[in-house]
Amino acid sequence: MENQIRYTSTRNRGISVTASQAVLQGLAPDGGLFVPETIPHYAGSFEKLSGQSYQETALEIMSMLLTDYTREELEQCIRSAYDSKFDIPEITRLKKADGAWYLELFHGATIAFKDMALSILPHLMTCAARKNDVTDEIVILTATSGDTGKAAMAGFADVPGTRIMVFYPKGGVSPVQEKQMLTQRGSNVHVVGINGNFDDAQSAVKRIFSDVKMKERMKLGGKRFSSANSINIGRLVPQIVYYFYAYGQMVKSGEIGAGDPINIAVPTGNFGNILAAWYAKQMGLPCAKLICASNENRVLVDFFHTGTYDRRREFILTSSPSMDILISSNLERLVYEAAGEDADRTRLFMESLSSVGIYEISDAMRERLQDFYGDYTTQDGTKEQIRRVYEECGYVMDTHTAVASDVYRRYRGNTGDMTKTVIASTASPYKFARTVVSSVRPELSDAGDQELFDALRELSGVDIPPAVRDILTAPILHNTVVDVRDMADEVLRWLEI
Ligand SMILES: *Cc1c(COP(=O)(O)O)cnc(C)c1O
Repeated sequence: MENQIRYTSTRNRGISVTASQAVLQGLAPDGGLFVPETIPHYAGSFEKLSGQSYQETALEIMSMLLTDYTREELEQCIRSAYDSKFDIPEITRLKKADGAWYLELFHGATIAFKDMALSILPHLMTCAARKNDVTDEIVILTATSGDTGKAAMAGFADVPGTRIMVFYPKGGVSPVQEKQMLTQRGSNVHVVGINGNFDDAQSAVKRIFSDVKMKERMKLGGKRFSSANSINIGRLVPQIVYYFYAYGQMVKSGEIGAGDPINIAVPTGNFGNILAAWYAKQMGLPCAKLICASNENRVLVDFFHTGTYDRRREFILTSSPSMDILISSNLERLVYEAAGEDADRTRLFMESLSSVGIYEISDAMRERLQDFYGDYTTQDGTKEQIRRVYEECGYVMDTHTAVASDVYRRYRGNTGDMTKTVIASTASPYKFARTVVSSVRPELSDAGDQELFDALRELSGVDIPPAVRDILTAPILHNTVVDVRDMADEVLRWLEI
């Protein structure tokens, strides 16, 4: 077929698969990430976009990139994903506050932006298995910094033909995040805490994926691995949709004219969300700056400032735990593009990152990253921004969103750039209730859970979401904790292979 988009590995141009094969495999066999061989261009009008529903926008954008899925297949996936699991019919919402537009991406079942992609990924994956005559049981292995785990389990729980195993850093996630995961029901789910941080979990999962012996045992057992992390293009593609949708909503409300540029600011960890914005821009979305906001794990800020990526530093546990990451996996895709789609060079960078912990890109490559502006905020700065925006505008945001909000506030002050800016709002404040409430009401720092949630309801005027109400009473169903070196054994044990 013409206009088919195929996917290649960031580390080997010899690899070329269809979109559905890339979704099924998750990670390329050489350990690289799948990237589209060509990036399609959006030829629709922004006027028209402004009249479309979320689901219509999703169909239009996803069919440009997932070209071997039929229109009917994509429609079916979209219909099953973006339904009443979301608490607003429009799926995402823009809220204007403090001179910016907050794109609320947390109206799904687990109240973090991960729901935007993980509510559709299981459908894309089971459809991909059918299309490719795969009858193996699909085993999703996932490392989580807090939000992916719950959202992925909610998506895959009791989906026939799949199993899902989630590794999270014990002690490295918020109490609500942990409780959400440990109360997960479903006969095909397994949650495991590890004595280590997110980077340890993610690196070990990638090793398990690429382990030849493991692959053989899986094959014998009639199983195969895939990933629900943002290394899977089945996560990345659905994330491009909401930037187009948000742009349409800005046009619709008269905030911008069709074709006017916007900036996009994103609280960043594994670089998946902001990379989706970058792809949206390459596809033709009028976007000027991409503002990459980090917490005290500021490895990306230093990278954008110096061209050197250096993970050899202290891993800091912060109040925005989903961004506590020193190895931002998806940056590999941007580095590959900045290298002029040079897979050999990208592979050498990534080998250097894993062996010595550092790599440095050339000036010519840095030149290609001018769209990005990187900065970070401390934990005190995060709390102060939550308090300030609440007191000045009455808008309550979560700790991750506050990192982006504060970075954007300083960006505007430093540059004078008044381009209208959309800030990705990545989680409900309820998910990080203690930090959020104590930012505004320090006297409640030691309050009990119920008291915190009640206070938050009063401050925000938003009811306690079902996702939070449920965990107050739900029984704990998981209690496994292992060392990082025992993760592979735990996989074998649980799968009985
Ligand atoms: C995952 C997550 C992030 C970071 O997104 P990346 O795509 O990993 O950069 C930010 N905020 C919240 C609440 C998250 O769950």
